[in-house]
Parts: sequence; structure tokens; C-alpha cells
Amino acid sequence: MIPARWLGGEIGVVGLGRSGRAACELLRHHGAAVYASDAADTVRLAETAAALRATGCAVELGRHDVARLARASALVVSPGVPPGAPPVAAARAAGVPVISELDLGARCLARTSLVVITGTNGKTTTAALAAQLLRATGLGPAEAAGNIGKPLSAVALEEPGPAWLSVEASSFQLHDCPALRPAVGVLTNLSPDHLDRYTSVESYYADKAMLYRDATNESRWVVNGDDEAATALAAPAAGTRERFSLERRAAEAYFDRVAGWLVLRGTPLLRRADLALLGDHNVANALAASLALPRDADPDAVVAGLRGFRPLPHRLEPVREVGGVLWINDSKATNVASTLAALKSMDRPAVVLLGGRHKGESYVALSPWLARARGVIAFGEAAPPIERDLGAAATVVRGGDFADVIDRARRMAQPGDAVLLSPACSSFDMFEDYEDRGRRFRAAAEAL
Ligand code: ADP
Repeated sequence: MIPARWLGGEIGVVGLGRSGRAACELLRHHGAAVYASDAADTVRLAETAAALRATGCAVELGRHDVARLARASALVVSPGVPPGAPPVAAARAAGVPVISELDLGARCLARTSLVVITGTNGKTTTAALAAQLLRATGLGPAEAAGNIGKPLSAVALEEPGPAWLSVEASSFQLHDCPALRPAVGVLTNLSPDHLDRYTSVESYYADKAMLYRDATNESRWVVNGDDEAATALAAPAAGTRERFSLERRAAEAYFDRVAGWLVLRGTPLLRRADLALLGDHNVANALAASLALPRDADPDAVVAGLRGFRPLPHRLEPVREVGGVLWINDSKATNVASTLAALKSMDRPAVVLLGGRHKGESYVALSPWLARARGVIAFGEAAPPIERDLGAAATVVRGGDFADVIDRARRMAQPGDAVLLSPACSSFDMFEDYEDRGRRFRAAAEAL
């Protein structure tokens, strides 16, 4: 529930995307006075502002009234807003309690058991898998909530709330989630990322550790048994732990590579061949999602849910095979670890499209997995460090604009190859976002 002392004053909301809007609506539903602001001022935001004003919110676009936010009884922060953004920092400095939109939603979903999924990579895929399994077993909705899906505050407005809900949480969101108490918490994996936004790997991992902040003896944690950093992060938390693993049979869910089966708590669950996803990392995601369900979930329904799951757009998504060349859209690979997972998944030589905005990571870790690659097209702002780091391991050619990158890929690929867009970088130097990059790749492949 929303604390009475917050309802006694004015609650601030920073950021008016889908989550910020849902937060405002939820706060108004609970009778709060709301002041919401967004630094941008677009046509879409103007529509949101008009709709929210009609419900009684005070809304400002193009600026934040920092003094007003500093007087708020509490401040709700949208997922896209970093914890240290100036209006948030000012409110924090003035002693205002700061919570993420996710926390607000969780406060108002007291009767829903939350499966909260975080990690560096695989959050969206694992959350979507868990949602599909909740749906298949009759426990919850087929759509995940949180970071990318439906805002938690929007779910909290629905009556009656679901019994179970799959929730994707980013490290930014976890930073300010004092009331989030997952029934089950899943940490997919940990590797350096966002070094452009965090001052150190430690501070990034520390936000991920917030998943365990409110751990109790009733908490259930799903841990990646192959990832030392993730295992160490989960180790001190109270509650029970179950591991998933691609390597170890001692884990509660593991991949029996020899037999080709996914095994759950000692019982073969699903043939690998029946999971329509490329790559071992997706086997790990499926194992994690299966472990996250209540222990008494109907195994046949779990199997049906896993079988029916299809690749999400922009995540190792096969687009089209043309002239014997398979074009694969993995635009969501915005760090080295996710590109590594993609390269490990390739069962054919690939022309790999790498580049975009450089986030500070070295690309050297990709070298061993490029031995079988046809070559690399390096593009965007990151092209020079990519050439420097990988020039010795693979044929690396420099691409120009995206049309040129596609053209070079087309000419380099031979029948039986793949063209893999798995850039290891963010997209903001050349595209609106990773979805824009993936859509343009898809359009180019479809036009061949
Ligand atoms: P997130 O929401 O954490 O960014 P996604 O499921 O959207 O995760 O996947 C992001 C990228 O990481 C994609 O390129 C995907 O293929 C890759 N990926 C997915 N699961 C994993 C995993 N378990 N380990 C490494 N990479 C992964």
C-alpha cells in the first residue's frame, strides 16, 4: 500500500513514458495529489499530459520544477531515468523518499506473487518464458510486466490482480525498490555492462544485489550455477536457492547435453530439439524460467508452454534465408556477453555485423569465437576499437552507413553462411534505438 504520509502531501513523478503515465494513474486512483514532469516535450508527451491533467494531475513538460520535487512527500522515478539524474538527486538530497515505478506497482499488488527477473542478459527472454509458463499452468497472465512489458503500475490498476506475475527488473529500477519482495527472484547472469552509465562494475553489481535486499526465510531464489559472480551475489541472501546449469548435473535444473534433454529436479522435462530457440544461453533461460514456477506446477503444462515459445524480435531472430544465407537479427545484443552468446550459438560460418556506440568494454573476448566466422563488418563509432581488438583474430572490414554495411555483408557471405547482426554496442550513434536498428536490418534482408 501507499504510505498515508505520502498521500498527505504531493507525490512527484519523473518521466512520462508508459510507466510514468501508469504511475500517475495509479496514484490518482489511490487519491494522491500528483506533480509529474518530463524534460522532453513531444507530441506524444503532450497527449499524455492532457490525459493526465484531465484526471487531476499537475503536469509539466520541457522541464522539471526541481524545487517542487524537493518538497514532494515521495518521488516516483520512471525506468528510463537514471538514479542519479539531477531532479532525482535534488529530491534525494532534500530527504524525499525516492522509489522506482516498479516499487510503486509492487506496493499496490500485495496479493500477487511476483517472479522478479534481473541479470545482465536474458531478462526479457526469461521473463517472457516465465510469463508463458505461468499462463500455461493457469497461474498468471501471458505477458510479463516491468522493464519492457506492461508497467507494473498498469497491472496494479486491474481488478482482480493476477495470482502470479512475471516481472522484468533492470538494475536502475532495483536501485530504488525498497518495498519489492519477490516470491521468487531470478538472476540470469552477471557481466560488465553499462560502464558508460555506472562509475564501476561494482556499483552496477551492487544495484543487481538489491534484488535480495528484503530476503526472508520464505524467499525463493533461482541462481545461475555456471556464473560465479551471480552465485556469489546471491549467496548471503536468506531463503532457499535453486541452481540452473548447462554443465553440472548437481544443479536442480540442468541440460543433459549427451541425451539432449532439459532436466528439472531429476526428471527429464523437454528435448532440446523441442525448444524453438537458438543457442545454449536460451536453454539456460528456459531452465531458469521452469525453476521459477511453483514446485507443484503441472509438468505437462510447462512442457507445452516451452514448446510453444517462439524467439522474441531482435533476439537471435532468424529473419530470412536467401541464396543459402540465413539473416539473423540479434540487434538487442548491446554488450559483449550477449554477442558472445550469439557467436557460440552459430552452427555455420557467419558474417558478423559489429558496432554502434562504444560503451567502454573491450571486444577481445570475442576473438576465439570468431575463428569460424567468415568475417566482421565493423561500423559506427565503435569501428576503430573493434578493428584494433579483433583485427588479428578475423577478417575485419570497415563499413560506412548501414546500407553499405548490409551490402558488404551480402557480398562477403557464401551459401551456407549466416549474416548475424549482433552488434555488442548500443545503437544511438546511427539509429533511434536497438529496435530501429533491428527493423532496418529486417527490411534490408527482406528486400534482397
Ligand atoms: P535483456 O532483457 O537482459 O537485455 P534479452 O532477453 O532482451 O535480455 O536479450 C538481450 C541479448 O542477450 C540478446 O542478444 C540475446 O540473444 C542475448 N541473451 C539472451 N539470453 C542470454 C543469456 N542467458 N546469456 C547471454 N546472452 C543472452
